[in-house]
Amino acid sequence: MGIFSPRRYQAPFYPYSRAGESVGERAFTAFERVVKGALFSCRMCGNCILQETAFVCPMTCPKGLRNGLCGGATPEACEVDPTRPCTWYVIYERSEKLGREHKLLEINAPLDGARVGKETWLDVYRTWRKRGGPKPLDFFFNREKFNQEYEALFYEIRQPDWWQGDSDYHPPKYEEPVSLLEANLKSGAFTVTAEIAPPLTADTSSIAKKVDWLKDWVAAANFTDNASASARMGSLASSKICLDLGMEPVMQLQARDRTRVVIESDAMGASGLGIRNILCLTGDHHRFGPPPMSKPDQFDLDAVQMLWMLRRMRDEGVYIDGRKIKVPPVFFLGAAASPFGAPPKYEAIRAEKKVNAGAQFIQTQPIFDYNRFLEWLEALDKRNLLDKVYILAGLIPLKSARAAHFMAEDVPGVYIPPEYVKRMDEAGDKEGQQEVGVQIALEIIDKLKNTPGINGLHIMAVHWEQIVPRLLEEAGIPKPAIRSLSSAETPSEPAPISG
Ligand code: SF4
Repeated sequence: MGIFSPRRYQAPFYPYSRAGESVGERAFTAFERVVKGALFSCRMCGNCILQETAFVCPMTCPKGLRNGLCGGATPEACEVDPTRPCTWYVIYERSEKLGREHKLLEINAPLDGARVGKETWLDVYRTWRKRGGPKPLDFFFNREKFNQEYEALFYEIRQPDWWQGDSDYHPPKYEEPVSLLEANLKSGAFTVTAEIAPPLTADTSSIAKKVDWLKDWVAAANFTDNASASARMGSLASSKICLDLGMEPVMQLQARDRTRVVIESDAMGASGLGIRNILCLTGDHHRFGPPPMSKPDQFDLDAVQMLWMLRRMRDEGVYIDGRKIKVPPVFFLGAAASPFGAPPKYEAIRAEKKVNAGAQFIQTQPIFDYNRFLEWLEALDKRNLLDKVYILAGLIPLKSARAAHFMAEDVPGVYIPPEYVKRMDEAGDKEGQQEVGVQIALEIIDKLKNTPGINGLHIMAVHWEQIVPRLLEEAGIPKPAIRSLSSAETPSEPAPISG
């Protein structure tokens, strides 16, 4: 257990190769491993960001997240390993105590595999020599100069040339909407997306059936990407099938199962196939999947890094390794958010990082507690985010009392007020429960559709997609006005919401 960090998650990294390593370097690395291990539970990731994370090693996070907590984090425990605290909670709380919250906004780079397991102290010394500062005497006689040079030195060490992360907002470098979802949102219309779970078999008829139910009522359909670490038809294939059926997909892309290489290539492939909306997710941990569990490696990238990387592919025409892209991909980038995960002030920092990195729309976890949702929205507003990102509030119509209990008790990041669970319990038979589920959903929509700062809904009617048209009709939510980009004239006035 490190003095300043939660206990080490896994053994420290070692270099993938010893080629070119001198005996002196090896000895120094071993010394650094022991000292930093005792102080910070250091895993020797080779790209130290301790100064950004209040001297708590982020690599003690089982997912290896370097830009903030995951959607399942709670004050009590880590989502992956409930026997340990959430590393990022420790980082946020200590940053607050030390007055270093501003440092939490910088977009930290993913690891460079070539540096993993290597020392960083010699690297600091070499960079200090190369930069010629900060000079120790300035610490006493010119503190401002010392602090500036100190900050510049450690920025150069933690932000490699191929990444150059910062804390600034990076708006998209294009004007005209690239997807129907973006066009409808940009028109100011209250816009709806709905989720479709890809099939567990090679039979695509279920996609065709669900597309048929939804395509007149929603602007786009999300295809999950092996949610809960359980394999099913891929999001890329399902999205293409949806597109061929005449409906716009949102391809969900999670980092859990992919390295940066596959994330770049799948995103490029999606653009090549005409898929224009990508939702970037870190992904549920392997432990949530059916056994046998895949090896629980830390993730290569998190959702913030995916957004940063894909935005740069689109807007700067570069891969993460710096190679130029002659014809950059085209996509509208989105992210997820958990209004009921961590306290709103922490969730707002996480949302700001995603928006700064490139998120143009956010689809939230399901909303059942409206007042707590408003607290989250207010926290985003305080950070001036609501005019930079479209918010699609998550909605799950409860299909049964059993489903209500499962989500209330077992799904991290979802909160259902007890009175809703009680209403489902008292709803009688299957039809009665479904009817109460619809009424609860309509009550929540009624509040959300008139909430300033909300641009639409994201309906996750898990295995109940056919209920979506009824919900939208009874809630008075208009059908999408813009049906093709070629005729994407912004209607003079977005279609009014009735009732
Ligand atoms: S809860 Fe999530 S962010 Fe926190 S330590 Fe666990 S995996 Fe990492």
